[in-house]
Amino acid sequence: MLKIHNTLTGAKEEFQPIDQNQVRMFVCGPTVYDFIHVGNARTFVFFDVVGRYLEFKGFELNYVQNITDIDDKIITRAHTEGKKPEEIALEYKTAFIDDMGALKVNAVNNYASASEHIAEIIAQIKTLIEKGYAYTAPAIKATGADAVSAEGNNDVYFELARYEKDFPNQYGTLSGQKLDELKESTRVEMEANKLNPRDFVLWKAQNYAYEPTNESPWGLGRPGWHIEDTAISEKYLGQQYDIHGGGQDLMFPHHEAEIAQQQALSGKVPFVKYWMHTGFLINKADKMSKSLNNFSTLRDVMARLPHHPAETLRLYFLSAHYRSPLAFDDTLVNQASVAIDRIADFLARLTKASGEENPALDEILKSRADKFTAGMDDDFNAPSAIASVFELIRALNPLLAKNALSAGQAETVKTFFATTVERVLGIVPEPKEQPIPPEILELAEQREQHRTDQDWSKADTLRSRIETEGYTVSDTPYGPLISAK
Ligand SMILES: [Zn+2]
Repeated sequence: MLKIHNTLTGAKEEFQPIDQNQVRMFVCGPTVYDFIHVGNARTFVFFDVVGRYLEFKGFELNYVQNITDIDDKIITRAHTEGKKPEEIALEYKTAFIDDMGALKVNAVNNYASASEHIAEIIAQIKTLIEKGYAYTAPAIKATGADAVSAEGNNDVYFELARYEKDFPNQYGTLSGQKLDELKESTRVEMEANKLNPRDFVLWKAQNYAYEPTNESPWGLGRPGWHIEDTAISEKYLGQQYDIHGGGQDLMFPHHEAEIAQQQALSGKVPFVKYWMHTGFLINKADKMSKSLNNFSTLRDVMARLPHHPAETLRLYFLSAHYRSPLAFDDTLVNQASVAIDRIADFLARLTKASGEENPALDEILKSRADKFTAGMDDDFNAPSAIASVFELIRALNPLLAKNALSAGQAETVKTFFATTVERVLGIVPEPKEQPIPPEILELAEQREQHRTDQDWSKADTLRSRIETEGYTVSDTPYGPLISAK
């Protein structure tokens, strides 16, 4: 039975979709004003694994991710570069889709762009106004070059006080913030034409000529960020659905705003049954975010990895629990790279197996396969699932060194790697072209045994022998890695 830590309740709960075997899932996608940052990639890889695992478990998945292609950051960048916002958005949206492909992210069924859902967004805002949860305010008069006459253009805001009256104890529950804290943190957002500084924007009137404009009942303008998501999710997933995911930094105000909008629209509580949030990628003491200058783009990081960049980065992201922070650190990325090499070498060696049937294999494989799914069932504990994969390699390497598996059994192990490890985690590389010869492997395995027994001098003697044969052995958290010198 799959259990999920639900941010909404703060508890680990048994996963039961609203509609039998169908799972409807939404994850906040990128704002496409630049190449995505490696920290965002962690979130997208994790939810890709969630999607892959749900399908592995036999659920029918509809996974939608929005793409924020109308946003102030896009407008600012376009204006600075003398381009149209649409050009910038398209350029980085295309780059994002390419990046996801390069990272083997394949569980998303539908990437939905805000710009293609203006009608749905307008319809939601209209309903919110009709129901009394939103109000219009004449656009603030812009000044300076490019300012347009905002005559007839209006902003639309969501009225939080009205929502809180009808839905008590809802706003702030997800992020665990108290009302007065919320006031504090939103004070900076105060704009002259809001009834209350906490009210958030649903529709933003055009103020400058270079801003993208859409016609609406409130004049020319563009949607606010939060309403893009609920308009898209209602269209494809309905008024209530199973899982909503995103980075921790989106919990407030973005996800609180989404809940308020959709619950006000439909009157149905809860909007989403399970909320899941990923931890930050940490660089030094700072949380990595787009606002800091010290981030690396996913592209830069992948380009620095000579072999198996997708598998390496996926393993690195998945090596920490998704709710924990993960250090962005070359050592950890290199460890992941070594681990992937170890899988590649193991797979190559499997292709050479030609021994007798080994009666021990079934039990070895079953226990590790059970541990794999037990880990994933426990709130997607990928580190535990990954550990079971390396335990399996560690258990089978000595058998392969002695050619003590049959070709058919090796095939069974390969099938496990393809249909479970790769299907769920996406960390299985192509087999190495030249596996390490069995006699070297045998020496390495004996050395492992001496190390386990803490017989260091015998272990060192074997290391020297391995080196005389032209190989090096390095010890990693994923086991010894042998490479040709
Ligand atoms: Zn979102």
